[in-house]
Amino acid sequence: MKQLTDFKRISLGTLPTPIHRLDNVSRILGTNVWIKRDDLTGVGLGGNKVRKLEFLLADAMEKKAEIVFTTGQAQSNHAMLTAACCRKLGMEPILILKKRGVMDMKGNILLESLMDTDVRFMDVPSYDAIYDEMDRVGKESGRPYYKIPCGGSNGLGALGYVDCIREIKEQEKEMGIHFSTIVCPEGSGGTHAGLALGHMIFAPETKVIGMKVDTDPFEVITPGIMREACELLELDMEIKEDEVFHADCAGPGYAIPSEEGNAAIRFMAKNEGLFLDPVYTGKAFGGLIRYAREGKFSPDENVLFIYSGGAGGLFAIDVQ
Ligand SMILES: *Cc1c(COP(=O)(O)O)cnc(C)c1O
Repeated sequence: MKQLTDFKRISLGTLPTPIHRLDNVSRILGTNVWIKRDDLTGVGLGGNKVRKLEFLLADAMEKKAEIVFTTGQAQSNHAMLTAACCRKLGMEPILILKKRGVMDMKGNILLESLMDTDVRFMDVPSYDAIYDEMDRVGKESGRPYYKIPCGGSNGLGALGYVDCIREIKEQEKEMGIHFSTIVCPEGSGGTHAGLALGHMIFAPETKVIGMKVDTDPFEVITPGIMREACELLELDMEIKEDEVFHADCAGPGYAIPSEEGNAAIRFMAKNEGLFLDPVYTGKAFGGLIRYAREGKFSPDENVLFIYSGGAGGLFAIDVQ
């Protein structure tokens, strides 16, 4: 097996991110809820994509890319953070986004404009046409370019969250506690894939649950990303689909606020002074609250929520 340190990586994030206990939430839910502050990764408004981009943009730099393409829906946090990290590293970001969701000059689109980013929109049902367009624009430019998939969710990007588990294990040691369950939002699968693979390598006694905020078939997608990461790591490990755990939190659909998610946003704001977002963290934390109320966590258990950022969306999408 290769080590994570064998991979090229650019330091972009302020790591390790803090972990702290949510005292009021824990009291109300009757179990110990902790939060890992991946909203404080230090670039842009912070968020989970920075960990993936440390590996992806290192690969882009090694390949001497001058232009970096990525995609997502209109308010993609990943696209905004890719632009921010590229600006920091002196590479040119071009975002070819899907015409889906809030297109106004608000939220992440506003932030992209502040960074003077080349943002284009395509009205297409699948991302394949967008990846083709990246090749067309890239070739036409005559400059070396690099393509990052939606959400940065491929095997290489997922290594950022394999490493996050290693980081959490160290923090557990320092803090003298053990997390029985780790809960994360699942939007394109890379974060969950990395955490789930990290758990198999470094923390077999910790269960990882991906809270699905989209209706895509993550039961297949996420193990697929894990297998890609295994290949990169030259790790001979069988990934069984029924050993990767998910829960449904999408509500009426991706990026459409849900009642459960909105209630979670208000619950967290009122009890802890923290702001979840309507697309990912609000819905995922809503799932965690549901699990706690269904008695799925015992009172002495430590549950860790990956607070993956997303503040940009809070200012673009109406939370009723
Ligand atoms: C992208 C994103 C996620 C989902 O992560 P994936 O790796 O795409 O599943 C969760 N939270 C926020 C804030 C995000 O931007």
